[in-house]
Amino acid sequence: MPTFEYAPAPESRSVVDLRTSYGLFINGEFVDGGGTAFKSISPATEEVLAEVSEATDADVDAAVKAARTAYTRVWSRMSGADRGKYLYRIARILQERAREFAVLESLDNGKPIKESRDVDIPLAAAHFFYNAGWADKLEFASLGPNPRAHGVVGQIIPWNFPMLMLAWKIAPALATGNTVVLKPAETTPLTALLFAEVCQQADLPPGVVNIVTGAGPTGQAIVDHAGIDKLAFTGSTGVGKMIARAIAGTRKKATLELGGKAANIVFDDAPIDQAVEGIVNGIFFNQGHVCCAGSRLLVQESIADEVERRLKRRLDTLRVGDPLDKNTDVGAINSRAQLDRIVALTDAGESEGAERWDNGCELPSKGFWFRPTVFTGVTQTHRIAQEEIFGPVLSVLTFRTPQEAVAKANNTPYGLSAGIWTEKGSRILWMADQLKAGVVWANTFNKFDPTSPFGGYKESGYGREGGRHGLEPYVKTGA
Ligand code: NAP
Ligand code: MG
Repeated sequence: MPTFEYAPAPESRSVVDLRTSYGLFINGEFVDGGGTAFKSISPATEEVLAEVSEATDADVDAAVKAARTAYTRVWSRMSGADRGKYLYRIARILQERAREFAVLESLDNGKPIKESRDVDIPLAAAHFFYNAGWADKLEFASLGPNPRAHGVVGQIIPWNFPMLMLAWKIAPALATGNTVVLKPAETTPLTALLFAEVCQQADLPPGVVNIVTGAGPTGQAIVDHAGIDKLAFTGSTGVGKMIARAIAGTRKKATLELGGKAANIVFDDAPIDQAVEGIVNGIFFNQGHVCCAGSRLLVQESIADEVERRLKRRLDTLRVGDPLDKNTDVGAINSRAQLDRIVALTDAGESEGAERWDNGCELPSKGFWFRPTVFTGVTQTHRIAQEEIFGPVLSVLTFRTPQEAVAKANNTPYGLSAGIWTEKGSRILWMADQLKAGVVWANTFNKFDPTSPFGGYKESGYGREGGRHGLEPYVKTGA
């Protein structure tokens, strides 16, 4: 338990002006959807935050038509420099309204305010700034001859980084001259709807960005719509595979950013305290709802006991609770469904023979919560070593040689990210070369930057987001 108590330090909610209900954002205006309105709640308290429209097939059709008209009449005729101005304007408004976005994100998603305030929202703005800079320089981005937009892009995003995933999707799409129909996740639609207000504030031409809220069927309507030229999806591998099947044989292009089961590999020469910080950040950041989370710790056998001891001591100090408290390290699990999944997988970990430990902290009585948990004695066949838990749960495995570490790290259907902790530069380079992961961090973890491409191998999907590479899927080239 913590050695001393902290006084509560709640961030004020007054900066957020919640409406009781929200429509869809189509052609620059909020309109009612034809489906059954649904509620978005705060997962920390189960309080209803707002009612949100559900977009039907007809609403999605209207959004795609608005995007097509905006594309042909306005956006495709505009110079890159002028498109860039809108992106810069959006980026500046996001900075100006950052606190409002951060509080709303923490309310709707359950993530700690220190993360939404210091990571999600600043990075979202940074993605708009970064892509704004490319808008008038696409011919110099080595994308191929005559790079130009596809047209109308359908984008579907998950609930773990709602605003950041929106920025990853919308900023490069607009910079390259596409127009957009985006669906946020059912449990976290509110910052996307606030972003729609930002589009109005920035005088973005109507129809360039359309936001349609709803659940899986709304996403499916985007996937199936004949007027969509390109799809960009971030979410589970299961839905990603369905999308790949649905568009097979059509002219639609797609990028899929899917799940992960990353290895965070600690060698015996690593600075252990720094590595422990990296392990904690790797799996407990954002409640472990992170596709590239370091959910499998591979630790060299000779230091395994030492690392485990220091890790548990560190986890005893993690503060779990109110997402809006500035001292909170671990917030609420995003939904009851996700909590049920975490419980089911951790139960399987125990029944398959791994040893379970959690930090024993008190949990709030309302809302969805899960204690930071560590499994030791995990073997590669355990479900908790194979399946993505997407929660604050670490599986610890050991290795003796670098070759064994590589073999174990790559023994997964996924290939999104990995971490290496060692003092030896040559080993970092050798390991990075061997690891089948789109991103490999060395002596750090979960570092993101808009200039740096991100994406997976194998069942973690295809395509890259961020950096110059992130522009590629949004353009066609050649004659
Ligand atoms: P999910 O169920 O696949 O949902 C992702 C999005 O797809 C949501 O907007 C969802 O709508 C929508 N959707 C659901 N069924 C659909 C269908 N049949 N057709 C079209 N769209 C559909 O994933 P999740 O559980 O929300 O998100 C967690 C997953 O995302 C994890 O596996 C994680 O690893 C992955 N992820 C990957 C990255 C990356 O960059 N690689 C980043 C973040 C998350 P509703 O939510 O409204 O049902
Ligand atoms: Mg919510």
